[in-house]
Amino acid sequence: MRNGERPVNTTDKTDKACAADVAGGADATPGPLLRATGVVKHFRGRGRRGVQAVNGVSLEVRTGETLGVVGESGCGKSTLGRCLVRLTDLTAGTVEFDGQDITTLSRRSLRPVRRGLQLVFQDPYASLNPRRTAGDAVAEPLRIHGHGGAASVGKRVAELFDLVGLARTHLDRYPHEFSGGQRQRIGIARAIALSPRLVVADEPVSALDVSVQAQVLNLFADLQEELGLTYVFIAHDLGVVRHVSDRIAVMYLGEIVEVAEAEALYAAPAHPYTHALLSAVPEIDDGSGAPRRERVVLTGDVPSPIDRPTGCSFHPRCPAAQARCRTERPPLNHAGGRQVACHFPLTSPIGVGAGQHGRL
Ligand code: SF4
Repeated sequence: MRNGERPVNTTDKTDKACAADVAGGADATPGPLLRATGVVKHFRGRGRRGVQAVNGVSLEVRTGETLGVVGESGCGKSTLGRCLVRLTDLTAGTVEFDGQDITTLSRRSLRPVRRGLQLVFQDPYASLNPRRTAGDAVAEPLRIHGHGGAASVGKRVAELFDLVGLARTHLDRYPHEFSGGQRQRIGIARAIALSPRLVVADEPVSALDVSVQAQVLNLFADLQEELGLTYVFIAHDLGVVRHVSDRIAVMYLGEIVEVAEAEALYAAPAHPYTHALLSAVPEIDDGSGAPRRERVVLTGDVPSPIDRPTGCSFHPRCPAAQARCRTERPPLNHAGGRQVACHFPLTSPIGVGAGQHGRL
């Protein structure tokens, strides 16, 4: 999944000049497979404006990469994932897939697009019909999309079982007869049945034991290599996201606050929220004597998406907040391949020194 680190150039650019960087780099070829622009998703509910789950997210996903999307529970990342695959309608903004604007496509027009754009759910058990066998579950998208006759569907289902590491002898078993990891393999087989180009995986390993997580993550990596898949990998665990992502987008309260190449982000997070999240990831002592990260403990809960703070959404919890942060919302600025939404971004590598404001 990982392409290796790109050098980060620190020259500031305007938003317009950096349009290509939003895609992940001015030299990115080929163009993005998916582009989200100003995506907003609000749900009706209490309060005048309802729940503002996603609040103006723009991002692009390159063909063949894994973009990790990470943030605390309730930050809007799963809602964003559903917007990207049009499982939910957007309140505002656009989503383009393979150059086609799919934002307002009708259910019928969306159907051929669905072949190329699939979602893997967090809870495979909830997404499987308990009264249908695993073979039936994997065959369903093939039947819906007219893959062919029963023999053709059966052959494809058997191939998919092989691909995801399930025994063909388990085709007639029911979901409750499988372990959690096996059920997620069924979910993955369903998702790749129609040979999609992009898979949005929403917390696909968070319900699994740690030992099983590694096996499923390896399966994602193998399938990407074998089938040339592009992933959006959503998770709350930065430790997991690090190992699967080429680039990482960090979300807070419905907004993207930082995007960077995975290694660059881990080596030197620029946003105080990223810094705090990273400081909570356990480090392995490699014996090099390198300084350990100092734990940054965030106080307070994530504010309600019904009643967002003024200015920077992170200011009530940010150890580096200053007066300006309470009134002025920071834009997502671009510098090289990195994007950061902070008036006072950190500049020093994590664990080596403090940020420019010297408070973290
Ligand atoms: Fe913290 Fe201010 Fe940056 Fe927001 S803009 S992350 S409050 S320093």
